[in-house]
Amino acid sequence: MMVGDLRKFNKWRRVLVAFFLSFSFALTCSCSTSRKESLHSSDSSVTTETSVRPESVDSLETESLSDPSLTEESVIASSSDETGSSVSVTEENPSSLEEPEVSSAESSENVTDSSVEESSISKETEAETIGFEVYFLDVGQGDSALVCCDNHYMLIDGGPSKSSDVVYSFLKNHEITNLDYIVATHPDEDHIGGIPGALEFSEVEEFLSPVEDDDSYSFRSILDRLQKQQAEFVVPSCGMEFDLGSAHCFVVGPVENAGKLNNRSIVIRIVYGNTSFLFTGDAESEEEESILQSGQTLSSDVMKVSHHGSEYSTTDMWLDAVRPSIAIISCGQGNDFGFPTNPVLERLKEHGISAYRTDLQGDILVRSDGETISVETEKETDMDVFSAPEIEPAEPDDGLEHDYIINTKTGKFHKPDCEAVSKMDEKNRKEYHGTRTSLIEEGYVPCKMCNP
Ligand SMILES: [Zn+2]
Ligand SMILES: [Zn+2]
Repeated sequence: MMVGDLRKFNKWRRVLVAFFLSFSFALTCSCSTSRKESLHSSDSSVTTETSVRPESVDSLETESLSDPSLTEESVIASSSDETGSSVSVTEENPSSLEEPEVSSAESSENVTDSSVEESSISKETEAETIGFEVYFLDVGQGDSALVCCDNHYMLIDGGPSKSSDVVYSFLKNHEITNLDYIVATHPDEDHIGGIPGALEFSEVEEFLSPVEDDDSYSFRSILDRLQKQQAEFVVPSCGMEFDLGSAHCFVVGPVENAGKLNNRSIVIRIVYGNTSFLFTGDAESEEEESILQSGQTLSSDVMKVSHHGSEYSTTDMWLDAVRPSIAIISCGQGNDFGFPTNPVLERLKEHGISAYRTDLQGDILVRSDGETISVETEKETDMDVFSAPEIEPAEPDDGLEHDYIINTKTGKFHKPDCEAVSKMDEKNRKEYHGTRTSLIEEGYVPCKMCNP
């Protein structure tokens, strides 16, 4: 029922990427080594087409999500944005490879051996389950994700305290009165500040935190509410496993719960059918390294980028182990830290990973039916998601008239040589000659990249 309600979340702009993790294609590969190789070669097969126009996005999604015959194809996905470019990806599911623990995930029993029988199991699964969703909420500078599976819910972080109302309203609008779990990855304000907002509307059964106590006002406020709700407080240890509906969750970090808070972040990998998701909190390279050394399975189709895209996280080694197709960066527009940073964006790009950003695209919804992953975003952007924000202050108005280019769709204005202008859809492009102040008075917003 609730998942159905969530589907009505109709503000979402339609499909950016649908990955059909083609099980039948996987079956044609005879050994895991060759499957790994084909995965890597497929990673680099991301191609860009320019023919798909935004008008076709709605029909594209309907087709790709509802037509089961598409899963038989090895070419899988299309995405489109305001620039009119589209991405086609051939993908094979990394989580179906070399995973000893996957057998404990209910819906993954069929991945270890290849046979015709399994192919039909896979088709059945595909037909009946469209049940796993993650909402990465735009909470400004911070993290908050709601994981939904079979009417079970887990909130991973709640953003900063000023986003309490965002989390509260989201839960209220979707009538989610019971959360199975709240995970406070670590007690930094930008992760736990908004959790009291969640507890204001929803009852939680279990609260996961790497620390039992913290002096902050937010943590105190959470503890008060947990006590009133008689919720269970758990400091999870590495290796702990639990279910969320038919999804299976693995606590893979912290391996050593010590040191600075970021490196005590709870890191969770979730397996749903043949798809997998990794939530990393603010883990920095030290925690990443200890998790890598622990030898746990990390491969995941979707990865929340650690620490809002800080350059001290998301190392090449980490990306080599996780091998995500999709990366989600949660950060605030114009944040003081310059997140996401250029080095991380470069690493993601070099690994052929599709990136999505809450600062540019608002809320991001990632869905899985156990085989196929699709991504929808609240807003379109004419920015390159791989461009780091500049943190220099905007140029003051010199009072003179200049040439500007307005994007009538996003309401932003740019210098004529801004990268965004070259990618702008012709029908949204409007030339303007005048002063910066007059543009702002007309309600237009200066682009954060070119600082017009
Ligand atoms: Zn932190
Ligand atoms: Zn943070």
